[in-house]
Amino acid sequence: MGIKASPTAVLQYGDHGGAVGYLVGEENRGLEYMFIMMNAARFAVGVQGIAIAERAYQKAVQYARDRVQSRPVDGSLNAAAPIIHHPDVKRMLMTMRATVEGCRAMSAVAAAAYDAAHHHPDADVRKQNATFYEFMVPLVKGYSTEMSLEVTSLGVQVHGGMGFIEETGAAQYYRDAKILTIYEGTTAIQANDLVGRKTARDGGNTAKAIAAQIAGTEAELRASGSAHAVAVAQRLAAAREAFVDVVDFIAANTRANPNAAFAGSVPYLMLAGNLMAGWQMGRALLVAEREAAAGRDVPFMQAKISTARFYADHILSRAPGVRDAIVEGHAGVTEMAVEAF
Ligand SMILES: Cc1cc2nc3c(=O)[nH]c(=O)nc-3n(C[C@H](O)[C@H](O)[C@H](O)COP(=O)(O)OP(=O)(O)OC[C@H]3O[C@@H](n4cnc5c(N)ncnc54)[C@H](O)[C@@H]3O)c2cc1C
Repeated sequence: MGIKASPTAVLQYGDHGGAVGYLVGEENRGLEYMFIMMNAARFAVGVQGIAIAERAYQKAVQYARDRVQSRPVDGSLNAAAPIIHHPDVKRMLMTMRATVEGCRAMSAVAAAAYDAAHHHPDADVRKQNATFYEFMVPLVKGYSTEMSLEVTSLGVQVHGGMGFIEETGAAQYYRDAKILTIYEGTTAIQANDLVGRKTARDGGNTAKAIAAQIAGTEAELRASGSAHAVAVAQRLAAAREAFVDVVDFIAANTRANPNAAFAGSVPYLMLAGNLMAGWQMGRALLVAEREAAAGRDVPFMQAKISTARFYADHILSRAPGVRDAIVEGHAGVTEMAVEAF
């Protein structure tokens, strides 16, 4: 961006020790400049959440392979088995894995948009990417860090009692993840940014342009024709429609009925983050199907396809319920008098 401290605009402060203040860049653009730093910091904290969640996942997998407890429910073994064989432990591990992969893909797509926003030769493409990146920053920060809490909490759960006591290190990940939803702006502050600057200000146009791109991915998934791809397309469509309903609600109410709109701000952020991550999982599934069909890295590609399907059925499927809470449930937040708490 090339912001420089101007030697012609040195402000002298006489108070106390006579510290010198330098004007950085142009007058009255300080807030805009500050957001260059803040966006970078917020993006980095989002990536921190993904990193700690990945570590918690790796540790949980290792423990689930080692820890022997209870016979398998399907009777396949007449003795206690490593807990990774129990369906609920697999569900927890899949939730951790799918969440991490979805958030990581979302952050990589946002990072690529940042690069294109600065280096693409076409000015229109630069502008489109800048707008997309700006929309994504509160999601990478807010959704990835909130989800890192779910993932690290599941990491403790996979370890059972051994997870709760500090010896294994699983609880330390959970504790360390908690700061991520607080510093560089709490989740609610990310959500305020998403509602105000990123959605209401342009009447929901950016959000709906992204929704149109997601509809394009759904069409590709349906055209691919595999059972997994068609199932993911259905979940993606339901989540996208829920998102568009919420965007309309936010655009219509942020000024007219701000308490109602902001009652749903964090749920909206969570729905949007879930959708963006799920969209990338759908795109990953398409690539993985092509690569597997070509015989390249087949076990990795099959695992990616299974993980994308899991994400759609178990995580993306939360989106319509969140839509209902925001659009139909806002009075449940606002009607309780402050004195009644
Ligand atoms: C370990 C640690 C390291 C830190 N490092 C730094 C650092 O290096 N540099 C730095 O500048 N700061 C740092 N901070 C400060 C951190 O950024 C703040 O704690 C954070 O921004 C939250 O502000 P607060 O603590 O004043 O909470 P508050 O603003 O009091 O928030 C309390 C609660 O109210 C909610 N809330 C507040 N306002 C709104 C609103 N308008 N709408 C909806 N909800 C709202 C919040 O979401 C939160 O749930 C650090 C904090 C910690 C704990």
